[in-house]
Amino acid sequence: MSETIKTDVLIIGAGPVGLFAVFELGLLDIKTHLVDILDKIGGQCAELYPEKPIYDIPGIPLITGHGLTEALLEQIKPFNPAFHLGEMVTTVEKIGDPAFRVTTDAGKVFECKCVVIAAGGGSFQPKRPPINGIEPYEDKSVHYAVRKMEQFRDKRLLIVGGGDSALDWTLNLRPLAKRLTLVHRRDEFRGAPDSVNKMRALVAAGEMDLKIGQVTALDGENGVLKGVQIKGADNSIATVACDTILPFFGLTMKIGPVAEWGVKLENNLVPVDTEAFETNVPGIFAIGDINTYPGKLKLILSGFHEGALMAQKASRYVFPDKRVVFQYTTSSSSLQKKLGVN
Ligand SMILES: Cc1cc2nc3c(=O)[nH]c(=O)nc-3n(C[C@H](O)[C@H](O)[C@H](O)COP(=O)(O)OP(=O)(O)OC[C@H]3O[C@@H](n4cnc5c(N)ncnc54)[C@H](O)[C@@H]3O)c2cc1C
Repeated sequence: MSETIKTDVLIIGAGPVGLFAVFELGLLDIKTHLVDILDKIGGQCAELYPEKPIYDIPGIPLITGHGLTEALLEQIKPFNPAFHLGEMVTTVEKIGDPAFRVTTDAGKVFECKCVVIAAGGGSFQPKRPPINGIEPYEDKSVHYAVRKMEQFRDKRLLIVGGGDSALDWTLNLRPLAKRLTLVHRRDEFRGAPDSVNKMRALVAAGEMDLKIGQVTALDGENGVLKGVQIKGADNSIATVACDTILPFFGLTMKIGPVAEWGVKLENNLVPVDTEAFETNVPGIFAIGDINTYPGKLKLILSGFHEGALMAQKASRYVFPDKRVVFQYTTSSSSLQKKLGVN
């Protein structure tokens, strides 16, 4: 286990709402660290609809999911938040009044005054492909995410899927792999046309293989893979030797470990008050899509509002002796100083 990281507030989830919370907390001099399971920042905006336009962000007639994430990152830059990506918060333990110890599946330990759950619909989890007997191979020969590319150097890789993740990892891992085969059930791809063209050029040059069909059986033992069987559209069976499979069948959202953090749940959502968006545990807040209260709308703008009110209450825990003075960014020179604009 690594050294304990101390911070004022630990934010679980780096979606748009977690990001804006950094801003509201930062204006009140509260330091933040953010943890997200995804290897990128932006939550649903980045993972589910980076190129789709959003039309209901106040004052911004049109912005894409990616554009909003970039704009929020620019806005919170003055507060220099620390990101811990590709890690899932697994436990939240009360150690003071309030104070919490939070751990991740990568073994990181945080101690903080407050926890802000901005976990959206919960954790994005990979969809398991329908291959009998795949479980014993998971995390040994079958991986649903690429945490470290080096892990796959000199491997005979089989990437399965037809979307952007499958194509991007095909292009990125091919130079490292001993041999790479992409398997997709049909000869049409959902991924970006440019990636499809690059992949086809590599196949034409004999630098990788493309198989059209479905993986139907795995050959190996004790989680160590030797090869797979692939059934083609014409029902022919081909055998491909490989030692690692990376299936990219999309993601589903599951509530995940939130259920074990001692906060009350209601239909897999976290009930909060509407004064501070605090849970039943003082010092643990829930903002954005993960919370519920009468009249809740799962909109980004609701989450922004919730973050602003949460920050006011959090500051009372972080600085119990300090009186919070309400100020506008337009006219407060002290806020402008924090933002680096004055
Ligand atoms: C296709 C689509 C279009 C949409 N269009 C609009 C729109 O036009 N306008 C609008 O206002 N809203 C829209 N929404 C809804 C909007 O995206 C959500 O309201 C918003 O993303 C919620 O933000 P959030 O930060 O609360 O959660 P999310 O964006 O879901 O982010 C939560 C993050 O928490 C992480 N997380 C969860 N559990 C853990 C854990 N245990 N440890 C670490 N990290 C964890 C997740 O990986 C995720 O990245 C749309 C949604 C979709 C799917």
